[in-house]
Formats: sequence, C-alpha cells, structure tokens
Amino acid sequence: MNADLHCHSTVSDGTLEPEAVASRAKANGVELWALTDHDEIDGQQRARDAALAIGLSYLTGTEISVTFAGVTVHVVGLGFDANDERLAAGLKATRGGRESRAHEMSDELAKVGIDGAYEGALRFVGNPDLISRTHFARFLVECGACASTQEVFRRFLVEGKPGFVPHRWATLRDAVSWIADAGGIAVIAHPARYKFTPTEEYALFTEFKALGGRGVEVVTGAHSAADAARYADAAREFDLLASRGSDFHSPEESRIDLGGLPPLPAGLAPVWEALEARIHLAA
Ligand code: AMP
Ligand code: MN
Ligand code: MN
Ligand code: MN
Repeated sequence: MNADLHCHSTVSDGTLEPEAVASRAKANGVELWALTDHDEIDGQQRARDAALAIGLSYLTGTEISVTFAGVTVHVVGLGFDANDERLAAGLKATRGGRESRAHEMSDELAKVGIDGAYEGALRFVGNPDLISRTHFARFLVECGACASTQEVFRRFLVEGKPGFVPHRWATLRDAVSWIADAGGIAVIAHPARYKFTPTEEYALFTEFKALGGRGVEVVTGAHSAADAARYADAAREFDLLASRGSDFHSPEESRIDLGGLPPLPAGLAPVWEALEARIHLAA
C-alpha cells in the first residue's frame, strides 16, 4: 500500500493548493493520502473532495505543534472527525501566537541587517492565520541572504541563530486528547529530528503512550534508512502503530516527493489498518 500520510499545502507552509497536492499524490502512485497542514484543518474538505474526485482514498490529517521538555515536537493526527469543535478550538489556540512571533522574528532579523522580513515573509503566506518559519525561509532565499531554505535552517531561525524566537505551543496532553477525542489516532512525527538524548526520548514515548498516543512515523522524508530501522524498533518496543509520510512541502524545496518513500519495514502494524473504518474510500 503506497500510503502518504504527511504533507502540506498553502493552508500551512506548502506551496501547492490542496487540490494540486491531491493530483500530485495520485500521479505519483499514492493510494491512501492525508493532508496534514500545521495546526490547521481548514483544507480538509478541499483535500478530501479533490482526492475522491480523482479516485484517491483519503484520511483526515493535521500536524500539531507541541512543546515537550522545552523542545518543539510535532504530533500528526489522522482519521479524526474534521467537524470536531474541541479539535478546531485547540488548533485555533495553537495558531494564536504566530502573528506576534512573526513580528518578533522580523525584529530579530533587522538586528543583523535584514529589513522588511515580516512583509517579505507575508508575501509567501497562503493562510494569514499561519505565518511560519518556512515563509521567512522563502523570503531569506528571495532576498539573497541564503541560497536555499536548507541553508536558512542552518544559519537563521533556529536556536542560537538570528531570527530565532522561542515559542510555547500546545501541550502533549492537549494535542493527543484533541485528536483521540475526535476519533483519530495521534502519531509522533519524524522522531529523529528532535535530537533528544535517549532518556528524553524514552520520556517522550512513555508519556505519549500514557496520554493515549498510538502511533509513530517510522518512514518519513527526514529519516535515513538507519532512522527508519531505529524507530521500527521503537514502534515494537512501545507497541505503537507505524506511519509513513513524505512531509512534502514543495516541488522546489522537498527532497522526497509525495509517494516516493520506501515501504515500512516488515513486521510493523501500519496505522492505516487501525483506521480502516475512518478511510474515505475512493470509488
Ligand atoms: P514553525 O512551525 O513556524 O516553527 O515552522 C516549522 C517549519 O519549518 C517546519 O514544518 C518545516 O517546514 C520548516 N523547517 C524547520 N526546520 C527545517 C529544516 N531544518 N529544514 C527545512 N525546513 C525546516
Ligand atoms: Mn512545515
Ligand atoms: Mn513537522
Ligand atoms: Mn510536516
């Protein structure tokens, strides 16, 4: 099964409209798709309609920003009821601080001689409620400060570098319960990206499970083959369902295209099998 259950559209920090992401997924051979915009479900109806219209099965999705042990951790939610009011309110609250954070980021960049970053980033924003570091990264490439968005995330916008502004996102408890209470499954996104110590990572997985989290991304754009093997072991150890998603943002920026990931390692329980009843099946 070519399932791609992690990607972004213009509703968050992707560059393609939800309909265009659906078409690209279909063209690339994806058989089950979820659009997982950051802290936002406004694109869900469009994504689902577009998918079903082209014969692509669909699961609802989102990617919630969480602060755990002082670090930003992402939790993907899959298969929830997109009309759930608590989930919508929780996501709205999570998005809430982005505007003032963006102004602070712009002030920080001005201190190193980069002016007009807020206005510059805004030109790349598709959803005024969701200005993100990715939009600043695109501006920093456009103005010539960096050659690529990858370079931006080495030289700017990350801890210890110009333009970084610490932020408090949702709690792990809230994010997991919003998803689970809306009938979905919460999944730890791209765990290799957090650079936790083994003790911190153990705490994340243990607490996540205790709070009702049920899945982990094993195969994802940011994971090497060694990372996938490592988190396959973690999935077995913690009895978690395994997910697979490219984290595609843009044809120009993303290293891994929609549907272009290796399969899940053998012997894991795929998250989509546990979500069978929640899949919007294409005809
Ligand atoms: P934000 O939610 O505003 O903090 O922005 C986070 C987004 O920035 C992520 O979802 C990625 O799209 C992007 N991002 C963060 N770190 C990197 C990185 N090292 N390389 C490329 N994109 C990154
Ligand atoms: Mn992103
Ligand atoms: Mn993420
Ligand atoms: Mn993502």
